[in-house]
Amino acid sequence: MSILQSHLAGRWQSGEGPGTPLVNPATDEVLAHASSAGIDLGEAVTFARTVGGPALAALSFAERAAALKALSAAIHEQREPLIDIAIANGGNTRGDAKFDLDGATGTLAAYAAFARSLPERPFVTDGDPIQLGRAPRFMGQHLLVPRQGVAVHVNAFNFPAWGMAEKMACALLAGLPVLEKPGTPTAAVAEAIAKIIVDSSILPEGAFSFLAGSARDLLDHVDAQDCVAFTGSSGTAQHFRRHDAFTVRGARLNVEADSLNAAVIGPDIDDGVDAFDLFLREVRREVTQKTGQKCTAIRRILVPAERLDMVCEALSGELSSVQVGDPTAKTTRMGPLTNAEQLASVQEGIGRLATVADVVSGGPDRLGDVGAFIAPTLLRAADGHADALHAEEVFGPVVSVMPYDGSVEEAAALVNKGGGSLATSVFSDDRKFAGALTLAIAPWTGRVYLADSRSADHVTGHGLVLPSCTHGGPGRAGGGEELGGLRGLAFYSQRIAVQAGRALIDGTFSAGE
Ligand code: NAP
Repeated sequence: MSILQSHLAGRWQSGEGPGTPLVNPATDEVLAHASSAGIDLGEAVTFARTVGGPALAALSFAERAAALKALSAAIHEQREPLIDIAIANGGNTRGDAKFDLDGATGTLAAYAAFARSLPERPFVTDGDPIQLGRAPRFMGQHLLVPRQGVAVHVNAFNFPAWGMAEKMACALLAGLPVLEKPGTPTAAVAEAIAKIIVDSSILPEGAFSFLAGSARDLLDHVDAQDCVAFTGSSGTAQHFRRHDAFTVRGARLNVEADSLNAAVIGPDIDDGVDAFDLFLREVRREVTQKTGQKCTAIRRILVPAERLDMVCEALSGELSSVQVGDPTAKTTRMGPLTNAEQLASVQEGIGRLATVADVVSGGPDRLGDVGAFIAPTLLRAADGHADALHAEEVFGPVVSVMPYDGSVEEAAALVNKGGGSLATSVFSDDRKFAGALTLAIAPWTGRVYLADSRSADHVTGHGLVLPSCTHGGPGRAGGGEELGGLRGLAFYSQRIAVQAGRALIDGTFSAGE
């Protein structure tokens, strides 16, 4: 039985003991184990900080960008074997695996391209010089300079490739060494990518570290200049927020947590318009892609009360026709959940939702006797205000439909009842409705996706996290922010205000010098 390896303090290391099993969720076969027991994580963080940090700092933005581009190509070259690992370890269909891997390589390449506008100097100016006195002789200039710590990235299990690459892209370009810790259940894909990165020698020694298995005492070694980016459930996020690394030592923490993303059908949308067909396509993809294990997936659908029957019938038809089964079969459109624990958690979640809504199609029963299979599940609530609809993130192929009265006010109240979301879709050809609803939900939403009939052929997709736009959301979504083009570098940088005479600012610190 293979044990996943960690690459820490410049060498491959194995943890002690049996660790955590990684399974094939289509067959229940145990594929490998992950353990970090006995590994010196303090040494690992210090090595990254003291060896990788200075080596990366010595590179220009252009050199770091070239490294990102080369990493993207090196990972892409191994796409087929990586797809096979994702199918075996994650239960991914081939399409799911490509989505994760191409998201990873695409984001690395995108950051290499974003870097073209960065200067040769080791810092970035933030805004123009500001006149501080009565005459323009003494000025202020904001700069972003790389911090001198390690970027510790703790990721969720659902995107082992993309989750790691998107964080790495920003941190490495900003000039910080990374220590990547994937979610253990699907860590085989992340470990394979780590091997590609280390074997490629594209990055200087110490710039990339990889931890397979439990994070154990990792946060105890995090210090003031370090930046920790966490993605996972809001329960685990609470543990991070309370840790001395942040409350006492002042390290930076960014949290991407869970979210009950909503889709709203505008009062103008009826069967037959392009925006409704788009809605059906989007919901089908959001519920079934990665077996619904996407942080941005649509969990709640708000429908004008008079259209509830029509929408439920159409959605039930869409979801019932999805072929669930062996992810290696070409006809399969949805594979299993990641493991038996996720299956149990989804079954319990459906049970809780079923106390306030009726199951229209699918349901909590396991499909078959082997594997973590479940049907796409549609629930219909008579009362859109029931608390459970807005409180339970069921991390699987599950969506609830609920009525609203067609007004901006009630739609906004229900969307915002989710306590903070990553992404909300509005399907409407009524620009006034879409505009007003956007502003009413904006304080509670990280990204608003306005889909209408005119843009139906050009949209990017409700759940797609794009490197050029920010990803994150307020409240229960974690309050964090990632990506957003070069905005993503700010988390890994120190913003400093330099106040000096105009000649010094112009000569040394202003844009274009
Ligand atoms: P999780 O159980 O919270 O775990 C997330 C990560 O934290 C894993 O790497 C886990 O390691 C680690 N971890 C757990 N306890 C820890 C501790 N005490 N100290 C340090 N690290 C610890 O979440 P998950 O089940 O992997 O992922 C599903 C959740 O992630 C869902 O709620 C989903 O919505 C959310 N998610 C959010 C986003 C986003 O961008 N907002 C993206 C993807 C997923 P182990 O695996 O080794 O336990």
